[in-house]
Amino acid sequence: MDNLYDELCKICGYENVKLNEPMSAHTTLKVGGRAKYFVTPTSEEEIVKLFYLVRNRKIKYAVVGNGSNLCVSDKGYDGVVINVFKNHSNIYIKENVITAEAGALLAKVGKEALKHSLTGFEELTGIPGTVGGAVTMNAGAYGGEIKDCLISCRVLNTNGNIIEYTNEEMKFGYRDSRVLSDKLVVLSAVFRLEKGDKDNIEAKMKELAQRRRDKQPLEYPSAGSTFKRPQGNFAGKLIEDAGLSGLRKGGMEVSQKHCGFVINSASGSAEDFIKLTDEIRKCVFDKYGVELELEVKLLGFD
Ligand SMILES: Cc1cc2nc3c(=O)[nH]c(=O)nc-3n(C[C@H](O)[C@H](O)[C@H](O)COP(=O)(O)OP(=O)(O)OC[C@H]3O[C@@H](n4cnc5c(N)ncnc54)[C@H](O)[C@@H]3O)c2cc1C
Repeated sequence: MDNLYDELCKICGYENVKLNEPMSAHTTLKVGGRAKYFVTPTSEEEIVKLFYLVRNRKIKYAVVGNGSNLCVSDKGYDGVVINVFKNHSNIYIKENVITAEAGALLAKVGKEALKHSLTGFEELTGIPGTVGGAVTMNAGAYGGEIKDCLISCRVLNTNGNIIEYTNEEMKFGYRDSRVLSDKLVVLSAVFRLEKGDKDNIEAKMKELAQRRRDKQPLEYPSAGSTFKRPQGNFAGKLIEDAGLSGLRKGGMEVSQKHCGFVINSASGSAEDFIKLTDEIRKCVFDKYGVELELEVKLLGFD
């Protein structure tokens, strides 16, 4: 065992550090080679200590949540993957204010909101990401985005300082926030919801979940919408109109149920995903002059 492994274990405990961990087990697209080090910190203090360790030793690192918006290279990741997930996922509720640690799944936050008859999180509940990933991406669905109910966000910046940013300071945009540009680590977030009727909240959550099941290829591994929505258009419609429904590269395929999704229908690889999305981009540009931009984040390709 090398010295870095021991130091990571000293911070997070042996049970929370894995060597050569297959990232396909940590992405909803089910692709990705091995991460040299894979750590699952259990507290904010551990995240900060990990950050100082990798920074001081100039070691490559990446922060991931549930891996539901991620395609990891088949070569894997030759550094430390910091998985902010279930080990750091407590949720605290005081009246209509919810504080959630970054590793909490949106579904779990939604469940707590429902339990306390709080409305304003229904649209987000079906997104299969963590609070950290959703804040990073300003995730949204059915007309709502996470920025709509976020009061503030606690982050670690690249100088190693913890800062509490207000909603405005987070610089939210369409599937964008300053977490990406400033390479922040999301530690926790505070949301303001409203008192509502429990039955109505539950009915809305169920209705939106049904809409997802009806419209999205949830029966296959995917990373959700592959491309961002281009101005004044829909990626899925452009892809369908270009005749690309069902197009395949290896085990990856343009979903015939929803062309905005690339699905892993037959043990596809990250390479298949890249080849397919490159071809989609080229076809859509050649036909409609529209440049599609990946919404899915890539890891380990440099
Ligand atoms: C079936 C399906 C449906 C989906 N539907 C939607 C939808 O309706 N709307 C939508 O917006 N998205 C949707 N997505 C995409 C995805 O669920 C969201 O983008 C989600 O917010 C990603 O969260 P995550 O925890 O999985 O992040 P990951 O995929 O692990 O990471 C995504 C990005 O966030 C960064 N990140 C993650 N956690 C942290 C942290 N704590 N600190 C700093 N950076 C961090 C990563 O480095 C990466 O850049 C869907 C995905 C799937 C598979």
